[in-house]
Amino acid sequence: MTLPLYALLDGNNFYVSCERIFDPRLHGRPVVVLSNNDGCAIARSDEAKALGIKMGAPWFQIRHLEREAGLVALSANFALYGDISDRIMSLAARLGDRQEVYSIDECFLDLAGLPDATAQARATREQILRWIDVPTCVGIAPTKTLAKLANHIAKSAERKPGSYPARLAQVCNLAELSERQRDWLYQRTPVGEVWGVGPRIGRQLNEAGIATVLDLIRLDPATVKARWSVVLERTVRELRGTPCIGLDDAPAPKQQIAVTRSFGQRVTGLAELKEAVTDFASRAAHKLHGQDSHTSAVLVFIRTSPFKPQAPQYSRSIIVPLRLPSSDTLQIVGAALAGLDRIYRAGFDYAKAGVMLLDLQPATQGQQELELGDDAVLHERRQARLMRALDAVNDRFGRGTLTLGSAGLCQEPGRRWTMRQERRTPRYTTCWDELLTVSA
Ligand SMILES: [Mg+2]
Repeated sequence: MTLPLYALLDGNNFYVSCERIFDPRLHGRPVVVLSNNDGCAIARSDEAKALGIKMGAPWFQIRHLEREAGLVALSANFALYGDISDRIMSLAARLGDRQEVYSIDECFLDLAGLPDATAQARATREQILRWIDVPTCVGIAPTKTLAKLANHIAKSAERKPGSYPARLAQVCNLAELSERQRDWLYQRTPVGEVWGVGPRIGRQLNEAGIATVLDLIRLDPATVKARWSVVLERTVRELRGTPCIGLDDAPAPKQQIAVTRSFGQRVTGLAELKEAVTDFASRAAHKLHGQDSHTSAVLVFIRTSPFKPQAPQYSRSIIVPLRLPSSDTLQIVGAALAGLDRIYRAGFDYAKAGVMLLDLQPATQGQQELELGDDAVLHERRQARLMRALDAVNDRFGRGTLTLGSAGLCQEPGRRWTMRQERRTPRYTTCWDELLTVSA
């Protein structure tokens, strides 16, 4: 039997790295990317992290660093990030038999049975760097939770010399190490770095004297289940090397929600793709409601199989911004389908499609509503009630009991609301009018 082996490939400071492709002056400088409406920092360069800027820091609180430390702040350019993501994912897909696009800059790959996994991962990483100019790190291990941890080690070893052995920088394969070496790494890693251990559980664990990953691994799974939860028990089993989370059944990350699937058989027609995208977008919206967030940009992608190089290849993604951050299933599905219409080309055998919700924010942050007229607020409330009813029916009677007719994009004309994006760079790769110009 082949042993399980997973890789997690992740873009370093992804949004900032995308901006640096087209503006080399940003290298070596502290750079942050701001959320829609230029509200708060959603990506930071290493230099910005070194200034002490935290994830999610409100722009007004860090603005003074522009003058004092040469901080560069840019508005999120999701059209650019989505396109660069698509290119990276296409290259990464060749590394493993199966790929799960987990977020805009992360994918899991099934490497079971792959000889020289470390060397292959290094080669893929190099190719992505050379062809696309985005640095990535790869973690490799027998379970997805450990692959995430390995990725953290690979990234930290590169960013903070001395934190971990330098030879683990960029690509870290835990499966190659001895148990003693692994324990040594786990002892140096705070328990809060473990995938699935959120801040709240992390605090509880710390209070119980469990400070490091090694402490957590040494707990008895049955005790963990009794005292914490079955979810944390699963995490402990994964940390011990027993795979409990397969591809495509991971919990959603908090900043983005992705629902992507490889099709059981090739799909060629637009009608079938629409059905799939409607389903993915509805499920993504459901997850969004579950964490009580709003999204302001919907990414949809379709691609052919990289394992059939003799067949015509096609891979495209597009980002459709919403006028107002929303959790409205109708709007999200509508945006995804509108995107699909734009990128669909006939004549290809599609193997995979997906929908991602980007730029998430707590639903309570809806202060923009004040700028709308009463009608819009009322409409918003009615929509929220409709969405709750939709979710309740689907929770009770099973997913898909109530679904949307696939044409339901409701863009009411009254909304003349546009996003504030004063610092957005050009959409270099997706818009003819915004190509990079080089002066002679
Ligand atoms: Mg990343």
